[in-house]
Amino acid sequence: LMQLSVPLNFIGFIYREIRQGLTDMEQMFDLLTVRQEVKDDPDAPPLTVTAGAIRFENVRFAYDPEREILKGISFDVPAGSSVAIVGPSGAGKSTISRLLFRFYDTSSGQITIDGQNIAKVSQHSLRAAIGIVPQDTVLFNDSIAYNIAYGRPGATEAEVYRAAALAQIGNFIESLPDGYKTMVGERGLKLSGGEKQRVAIARTILKAPPILVLDEATSALDTHTEQEIQGALTLVSRERTTLTIAHRLSTIVDADEIIVLRAGEIAERGTHASLLAQRGLYAEMWSMQREVDEAEEALERARAAD
Ligand code: ATP
Repeated sequence: LMQLSVPLNFIGFIYREIRQGLTDMEQMFDLLTVRQEVKDDPDAPPLTVTAGAIRFENVRFAYDPEREILKGISFDVPAGSSVAIVGPSGAGKSTISRLLFRFYDTSSGQITIDGQNIAKVSQHSLRAAIGIVPQDTVLFNDSIAYNIAYGRPGATEAEVYRAAALAQIGNFIESLPDGYKTMVGERGLKLSGGEKQRVAIARTILKAPPILVLDEATSALDTHTEQEIQGALTLVSRERTTLTIAHRLSTIVDADEIIVLRAGEIAERGTHASLLAQRGLYAEMWSMQREVDEAEEALERARAAD
């Protein structure tokens, strides 16, 4: 039996290694449908991140030449600041994050990080500089410690515990009978959407990338969970350049700048307060969101009273 289990473990190991390279991004970028769209120049140098400033300069992009999705987008995310992209469904929000990852090249204009055109540096170095907290995190059929440590292979136990604590999931893990050794994933403990997201945050804390892309969950989490996650996200994004693709406006009120995208163009931009004062699309989205939130809260109260 021993003789057999070694090769099987080994195959499992290789399989996991391959899966792991893909899983995080697969969720957000649907890699399976993304063919080899971009190629590195033969001698593409690595990206050198000095401060982590992102700049979109008159970026145009179309998946299909017949239909332009981004129609000349320019904005800056100064090093260490946070910018949120909001807008109606289909406006092109997630496309912006895909371009930042260079899953596609722009049709014109450019994206730079610390002054370097991202199309001219190696994809590997670009992706190493960016951490994503995806909408829905895939967990491996392994211990919860393993799932967190995946953010930085070789992380020590102490580092894993610290990351979990910062992601506000440490107490939850310690309350489990097997603690960090608890098996999770399909064949183990099923974690809720909010718990999975905090595992993703803990991974990102370990990876410690200079640039963060937060792709917010569209699915409604209960108010308490959302507040906990928000607290954890605020911690990870502190001092990091952060681009948030926001579906719920309540989570981005503190962003340094909010960009309102409509049909591939920037319709409005500013802080939460200045956008409300403009009484435009953002203000309209905000009042709609309030109504939805209030209805959800009423529902939660009714459930709790049951
Ligand atoms: P949502 O809030 O609904 O997630 P979004 O603003 O993030 O929307 P994107 O995902 O950026 O929107 O998509 C913008 C447009 O591009 C949509 O009309 C979509 O149909 C189109 N699109 C997205 N991905 C592809 C693709 N791989 N091929 C062709 N068209 C695409």
